[in-house]
Amino acid sequence: MKSTSLLIATKRELPSDAKIISHKLMIRAGLISKSTSGLYLYLPMGLKILQKIEAIIRDEMNKSGAQEVLMPVVQSAKLWQESGRWNKYGKELLRFKDRHDKDFCLGPTNEEVIVDLARQYIRSHKQLPINFYQIQTKFRDEIRPRFGVMRAREFIMKDGYSFHLSTESMQDEFNKMHKTYCRIFERLGLKYYPVLADSGSIGGENSVEFHVLADNGEDKICFSDSSDFIANIEKVALKKPLSVKAPVQQEKKVLTKNKTTIEQIADFLKVAKNICVKVLIIKTKSKFLALALRGDYDINITKVQNLYGDFSFASDDEIKTLGLKKGFIGVKNLNIDLVVDYSASVLSNFVTGANEYDYHLTGVNWNNISFSEEDLRNAVDGDQSPCGKGKLVIKHGIEVGHIFQLDDIYTKPLNAGVIGKNGKQQIMKMGCYGIGISRLIAAIIEQNHDDKGIIFPQIISPFKLIIIPINYNKSHRVKALADDLYNKFINLNIEVLLDDRKERPGVMLTDSELLGIPHRIVISDSHVDNNSVEYKARNQNDKIEIKLNDLFSFIQSKLD
Ligand code: ATP
Ligand code: MG
Repeated sequence: MKSTSLLIATKRELPSDAKIISHKLMIRAGLISKSTSGLYLYLPMGLKILQKIEAIIRDEMNKSGAQEVLMPVVQSAKLWQESGRWNKYGKELLRFKDRHDKDFCLGPTNEEVIVDLARQYIRSHKQLPINFYQIQTKFRDEIRPRFGVMRAREFIMKDGYSFHLSTESMQDEFNKMHKTYCRIFERLGLKYYPVLADSGSIGGENSVEFHVLADNGEDKICFSDSSDFIANIEKVALKKPLSVKAPVQQEKKVLTKNKTTIEQIADFLKVAKNICVKVLIIKTKSKFLALALRGDYDINITKVQNLYGDFSFASDDEIKTLGLKKGFIGVKNLNIDLVVDYSASVLSNFVTGANEYDYHLTGVNWNNISFSEEDLRNAVDGDQSPCGKGKLVIKHGIEVGHIFQLDDIYTKPLNAGVIGKNGKQQIMKMGCYGIGISRLIAAIIEQNHDDKGIIFPQIISPFKLIIIPINYNKSHRVKALADDLYNKFINLNIEVLLDDRKERPGVMLTDSELLGIPHRIVISDSHVDNNSVEYKARNQNDKIEIKLNDLFSFIQSKLD
C-alpha cells in the first residue's frame, strides 16, 4: 500500500485523558479515535491490527474444534429474566425499551443467548461436547471508562461457550481452552501468566484469568516467591495470624480534633498505622455492617461481596442515621454487627475511633466487644503465600482472557437439557471462555514500546516493511528504485508500505517509528549510486547498508 492512499492519522498532540502509554500511542499513531467516553473508532491502521489478532484467535479456536457463530448485540430481557440476571446484573447492563415497550439490553456477555441456542438445537448427548464461539462487540456501561480501549464501554470480545453431559467433559474442554489460550498469547508474542481468579458476575467455581504484566495494569497479581502459585489478589485467601498478646494497657479517650484519616491519626498520635483499626460501614441487601481492618490494609471488595453479596459503602447520610460519626467510627458501642479482619482481631492495645466527634480511643482491646472474624483484606507484598510455600510478591497485570467452569448455573434456570445415555432428560454442563480482543492491542503495546513509539511484534504489525524514499517526488531515480522494490515486495506477498507522501524525511522516519513497523528501508540518491539501501529493524539501533542483490533474501530471512 502507498501512504498517500491510506489514512495516516499520526498526531503530535495528545488528548488530556490519555494517561497510560498504550492509550497515548494508539491515539498518536492514529490507530483509534475517540467518539465519546468509552467509545472508539478504529482507523484503518488500527483495524488492520485488530483483524490480525482476530485471525490468530480464529485459527486457534477452529483448530481446537470450536465452531464460530454470530449472535445479536441486542438481547431480549426475557432470557435475562429466565436466568435471573435481569435484576442481579448492575448498571453495567444497559437496559432499554423498544417501540413496543418491550425490555432489551446491549449484551455485555452472551450466556443467556447461547444457552437458548443450545436448548433449541442440541437434543441428544450424542451431539456433545460442543463448543461455540463468536467475535463480537460487547457493551458494558463501565462506571469509569478509561485508558482508551483497555477499559472501554464498547469493546470487541471473543466469547466462547461449551456444552457437556458430564463434569469431566466440561473440565477436559476447560483444559483444552487453557492450552488454546496459551498458544494464542504465545503467537501474539506476549509475556503472560495464567492466574487463579474469582468468577465475578459470570459465576461458577473454577476460573483462570490470563494476565499480561504491565506497570499500568489495573489488576494486582500475587506470585509466590517459592512456588508456581499465581493468583489474582481478589482470590488470595489469607489465614489468621498467630496473636501475640501484649500486657493490657489502660484504655484512654484522646482529643483528635479534625483528625479523620488513618494517616492523620497515626501522625498525630505518633503511632504506626498497623496498630490503628479503621471501621468501614457497608450496606448489604438486608442490613448495615461494620467492617474493621488494620489501618495499613485495604479492603478486598471481592471477598466482601462473596461473603455478603452485592453491597455499597454507606453514604454520609446513612452513617449519620446510624448515629455514627464519620471519621471517628470505632469498634466499641456499635449498634450494628461488627466483622473484624483476621489481621485486626489479633491486635492488642490498638487505636480506634471513639464513636464521638473529635475523639479516638487508645489502648483498646477486644475483650467485652462482640464481633465475628473474617478474611476481608487485600494481600500485600511479603504476606505468606496461601499455597504454604514462600512469600507473596505483587505485580500489576492486564486481564486479557478469562475461562470459567459454569457447570449448570445458566443451563439449569434456562432448562437446557438433552436426552442422556440412559434415555432420560439431563441438564447440560457448561464452560465459558473470553478474550478481550480490543484490550489485547493495548496490552501488546504496553509490553512493546520505547520512547519513539510502538514496536509491533511482526505477526500483528499492520505492515511488515516500510520503504521511505528521500525526495520521492523530486528525484526520478529514487522514485524508480522505490517503486520497483515496492512492486517486487508486493509480488512476494510481503505487506509493504511505501511512504510516497510529500513529507520531510524527518516526519516520515518519526511516523514509521511511532507506528512500530518492524522493518524499514530508506532510499536516497546516494543509495541509488551504490546499488544499495539502508535497512533498520524497529527493535534495533543500528542501520545497515544492504546491496540490492542481497535485499530480498535478507528481508525474507527477517520475516521467517
Ligand atoms: P474486568 O475485571 O477487567 O472488568 P471482566 O472480568 O469483567 O474484566 P470478563 O467478563 O471475563 O471480564 O470478559 C472477558 C474479557 O473481556 C476480559 O478478560 C477482558 O479482556 C475483556 N474486557 C472486559 N471488560 C472490558 C472493557 N470494559 N473494555 C475492554 N475489554 C474488556
Ligand atoms: Mg468487568
